[in-house]
Amino acid sequence: METTKFTNFLKKYGYWVILALAFVLLITIIALSVNSNKLELKDATPTQPVSVEEVSFAMPVQSTSVTKEYSNSALQYNKTLNLWQSHKALDFAAEEGTDVYAVLDGKISEVTYSYLMGNVVKLNVGNGMVVVYASLQNDIPVKVGDVVKKGDVIGKVGNTAKSEASDGAHLHLEVWLDDQNVDPSLYLDLEQK
Ligand SMILES: [Zn+2]
Repeated sequence: METTKFTNFLKKYGYWVILALAFVLLITIIALSVNSNKLELKDATPTQPVSVEEVSFAMPVQSTSVTKEYSNSALQYNKTLNLWQSHKALDFAAEEGTDVYAVLDGKISEVTYSYLMGNVVKLNVGNGMVVVYASLQNDIPVKVGDVVKKGDVIGKVGNTAKSEASDGAHLHLEVWLDDQNVDPSLYLDLEQK
């Protein structure tokens, strides 16, 4: 009889059948919740460009002495390298060891050293914007993954960028928006102190 066979099957393997069904159900629930999480994240972080009016940086150093302006195409003389080049950053002259501040709330995304840029800290402030601090002193008080508040100390002014060594101690500040280099002074009130 078919029913007896089925009953016997259930008696023998019923436990496994229920377990398998429960497992499939669990996987489905997990898959659904992961998917809905993704959707929520997508909605919560639109990748619209940051409008200049809405973003106001804290000063990155207590110095409004900009020694080298931003230039996207115009060439400026680099006396260290003895050549003319564009300077897609702002340089602030400051004493060696001067505190360097987070311009906005964000997360430290990179702490690196390179010969030309010296010690570099990258601060991801969200909405596709990354702020790059270069030529910092060796002892960096933050590490990758640290969450910082606007105004927190994230480094100290040094003279470690070999490409700008003749300029003396200074902060080299870059702003990247959706992987495009933009002028940091757009977000700074350089009249204030
Ligand atoms: Zn510079």
